[in-house]
Amino acid sequence: MARPTPAEIIARDAADPLAAFRDRFALPDGVIYLDGNSLGPLPRATAARMARVIEGEWGTGLIRSWNEHDWIGAPQRIGGKIGRLIGAAPGTVIATDSTSVNLFKLIVAATALSPERGTILTEAGNFPTDLHVARQAAALLGKRLRVCDTADLENAIDADTALIVLAHVHYRSGHRHDMAAITAHAAAHGARVLWDLSHSVGAVPLALAADGVELAVGCGYKYLNGGPGAPAFLHVAGHLHERMQSPIAGWLGHAAPFDFADAYRPAPGVDRFLAGTPPMLSLLALEAGVDLMLAADQAALHAKARDLHDLFAADVAAECPALTRISPDEAERRGSHIAFVHSDAFAIMQALIARGVIGDFRSPDVLRFGLTPLYLRHRDIRDAVTILSDIITGEHWRDPRFFIRDRVT
Ligand SMILES: *Cc1c(COP(=O)(O)O)cnc(C)c1O
Repeated sequence: MARPTPAEIIARDAADPLAAFRDRFALPDGVIYLDGNSLGPLPRATAARMARVIEGEWGTGLIRSWNEHDWIGAPQRIGGKIGRLIGAAPGTVIATDSTSVNLFKLIVAATALSPERGTILTEAGNFPTDLHVARQAAALLGKRLRVCDTADLENAIDADTALIVLAHVHYRSGHRHDMAAITAHAAAHGARVLWDLSHSVGAVPLALAADGVELAVGCGYKYLNGGPGAPAFLHVAGHLHERMQSPIAGWLGHAAPFDFADAYRPAPGVDRFLAGTPPMLSLLALEAGVDLMLAADQAALHAKARDLHDLFAADVAAECPALTRISPDEAERRGSHIAFVHSDAFAIMQALIARGVIGDFRSPDVLRFGLTPLYLRHRDIRDAVTILSDIITGEHWRDPRFFIRDRVT
């Protein structure tokens, strides 16, 4: 890969159609933020929106705001916006609960669609919550959880497979599955796929309806910049709504919650997957992040993500030979983060963070950098790799303070 000259870096930033978005984030000085795939930064509009929501809608509007500010419609409204980002049909996405809880709801409800099938399938090395929730759901349902290597996945799908639970983009390696092909292959065997879009939404092109995707969940606080612990979302294709029942039959998933009836009657449509009262502050913060993402030209976003990845990869290959890249070469087969292995990845990342370059470490040996086109410039990538190279060649990471592990790594 040819490395751009400093002048070319400046020219690319000057010609960047997304350049204006950077100012719409409250990024601290002296920081190159390469962790937007784990916790997106604060959009300026969110701070202003939160002030209005807290003082006006909550403080003054009080309980009237459920109607007057349409708090009650927020899960569907925000779900609809996320649906546009992921190419899902209107009325098939709601913003609600956490990714973990949404996984549970959809794994249980989807597996029940195929009572004669005994297996839930997933891949080894999947994100821990996906594995743990799938295992527990399988145990509750009296099904078997089969965990197979990625290479064996397609062969493992058979007449006993009820559901396949897969992360579209892998949180560690950045490997991206072929969503349309796997969904079609599963369907040919009468099986369904539940896609976890946590590292895909706002990061790579998605076309759920066109790809025949029936079930998906995804995260609000990563590329959607919804804030720490932001609500997640779930998608269920329209033809399944009436056939599926959430295992958490909460009152807000009822057809008429304010009838306060003893008997449960699920709401028509995807609303039946709501459970309890939505966390309104977090939900409206998420909406500000989603609105910002929707304002960006998605083709430009994905093209820039590819460029930032190629620049990072080329710079590291030239400047940091001690690092081995594990994210795929091919743009169609990867997400929007880049990952490397090194036996001292933890200390190297701590040393980087101390120099203002924030990425993250994933146990046991991965350095991971989110390449988020809305607010990163090409020069940020060049500067980050220059600092990374200095830390590695100068062995600055060997300082004992970089080996101290906190609770969150
Ligand atoms: C980030 C992430 C989650 C997060 O789940 P929470 O319930 O929000 O903690 C789940 N699955 C995948 C694949 C993720 O990357």
